[in-house]
Amino acid sequence: MQPLALFDLDNTLINLDEAFQAWIGEFADERGLGHEAVNWLVALDRTGYPHREVFFAKVRDHFELPQSVDELWSRYRRRMPHLVRCRPQVMDGLSRLRASGWRVAIVTNGTADNQLGKIRRTGLADAVDAYALSGVEGIRKPDTGLFEIAAKRCGATLADGGWMIGDHLVADIGGGRAAGLRTIWIDRGTWPGHEKNADHVVTDVLQAMEILHAER
Ligand SMILES: [Mg+2]
Repeated sequence: MQPLALFDLDNTLINLDEAFQAWIGEFADERGLGHEAVNWLVALDRTGYPHREVFFAKVRDHFELPQSVDELWSRYRRRMPHLVRCRPQVMDGLSRLRASGWRVAIVTNGTADNQLGKIRRTGLADAVDAYALSGVEGIRKPDTGLFEIAAKRCGATLADGGWMIGDHLVADIGGGRAAGLRTIWIDRGTWPGHEKNADHVVTDVLQAMEILHAER
């Protein structure tokens, strides 16, 4: 039987934080907002407004921008796929896993345009067997349903087990465990005090891939 490995996208296979930094720079430049604005945007992101609709409502108010929140957010979603990249080592890692018999899929939460754009532009669409996007399927991690869709598209079933690798303790690790999968958490130092019950903890997805090879 071919083992199954499901990967989260943002800050697991791709470095979303890096792309977001680049976006902030562009956004401030375009509007002539200056360096202080960059710091303000970084701080706003760090203080925990990961949902971009909320984020852009605050940005619009703060800078008194003429565009609607919808317009700002949708421009952001169109731009981000151009700013993200997947490291060649990660692409190679996926290819090595598949070459040694693994079935590999991406399971990600987010809007269809943004997530699909990122998966296609980075080349990840061709580097995996399948993907399942919450914005397309209408079901989000940690719900088991999204993992099930990804497994099915790989010709597998969750009943046969497999692995989930991601940086989010609730969506990826909690969700993966509830789906009956073994889990590898990418620890980026952002979850102090939260229960960490993954089977393995690493700091980079490449280490997670080594574990999969060893565990096979
Ligand atoms: Mg993530």
